Amino acid sequence: APAPPPARHLFSDPAEVEALRGSLLAWYDKCRRDLPWRTLAATEPDADRRAYAVWVSEIMLQQTQVATVIDYYNRWMQKWPTLQALAQASLEEVNELWSGLGYYSRGKRLQEAARKVVSELAGQMPRTAEDLQKLLPGVGRYTAGAIASISYGQATGVVDGNVIRVLCRLRCIGADSSSPAVIDRLWDMANALVDRSRPGDFNQALMELGAMVCVPKAPLCSECPVKQHCRAQRRVSLGPTVTVMLVFAGVGSCPLCPPATEPWDSSLGVTNFPRKAAKKQPRVARSATCVLERRGCRGALEYLIVQRPSSGLLAGLWEFPSLPLAQGLQEEKQREVLADHLRAWTGQPVAARSLQFIGEVIHIFSHIHQTYVVYSLPLDGDVTLDPALSPSRWVTEEEFHASAVSTAMKKV
Ligand code: SF4
Repeated sequence: APAPPPARHLFSDPAEVEALRGSLLAWYDKCRRDLPWRTLAATEPDADRRAYAVWVSEIMLQQTQVATVIDYYNRWMQKWPTLQALAQASLEEVNELWSGLGYYSRGKRLQEAARKVVSELAGQMPRTAEDLQKLLPGVGRYTAGAIASISYGQATGVVDGNVIRVLCRLRCIGADSSSPAVIDRLWDMANALVDRSRPGDFNQALMELGAMVCVPKAPLCSECPVKQHCRAQRRVSLGPTVTVMLVFAGVGSCPLCPPATEPWDSSLGVTNFPRKAAKKQPRVARSATCVLERRGCRGALEYLIVQRPSSGLLAGLWEFPSLPLAQGLQEEKQREVLADHLRAWTGQPVAARSLQFIGEVIHIFSHIHQTYVVYSLPLDGDVTLDPALSPSRWVTEEEFHASAVSTAMKKV
């Protein structure tokens, strides 16, 4: 077993832990933001309904900011107020509502998990973090801990980006905070710290502190309810000489201290923590895409959209006919391969020169730097869509925006 970390990185004084819990919860009671899922979790008497609301909000919050999530959450809960209602939904409906949130597989797995609870677990949600993680697709350790503590009162911790930042600062953890060894330590800490009588509130308070006070770039240390327990803050107040001595005391031998090659930078203050190894560069990809348009029978312009395969990136979403391009392909060659590809959709030869170049659209997925080379092609007369190909349909601009299309396609 690995040696326990030095005391400077631990919460080993029970009196201090009690005081920290008290200060944090008092601050949360006074300063927390009113969010719809919090209101529901605080007022709904049925624990499974609470769990469903927390689950939906937590999966959405993994995608984007709170301000954006509120509208998606409200629309989702209006359409599918219970797990049972969600289990009846089609993937198409889920994708439509999720459209614009990104990471579409998360919405899909949420719905698959709802079906599983209804069909295999007799409609009963698992009630511990361990079971939630084991039994529900798409529910990871963090989401399981959040649901179990907030909805079922299990005294289990959570570790997300906000908690990582707060804990690393409270205990001067400067080793790579994305490494499995450090993450394991942070989970141990979160589980040890969580308040036994109000675990859900405590976890939300810790995350709220990270979101509102102990923010990444300019933390509001003077307003922080736990500043008297914060070792990063103490180092700053001790001044540069003592700080450097303290930091070097651990360098080299401690798995949680900053690496010797990147010692304390006094210009950064508490934001010396946390530290992360440099991110991997995203993969670069290019696709050609064509907006095929025709005049529909009601006189409005219509555009052809086709459905992506049911697995992989943007699974099941709709897009303009597209195909990946090899790197470094000349423009003339791009047109040719795209024209070839479009023949399948139009049922007739497409001349490469008839494709009108519109421009390029860049979209950053989490791990892909994607460029769409956009062409357009107006069509005369009717086009019979081949039912043997992927599902496809003609839509007006309004219908396009209401369809399950990705943000990247909306940009196109
Ligand atoms: Fe974060 Fe500052 Fe509070 Fe420490 S004192 S936890 S660095 S906001």
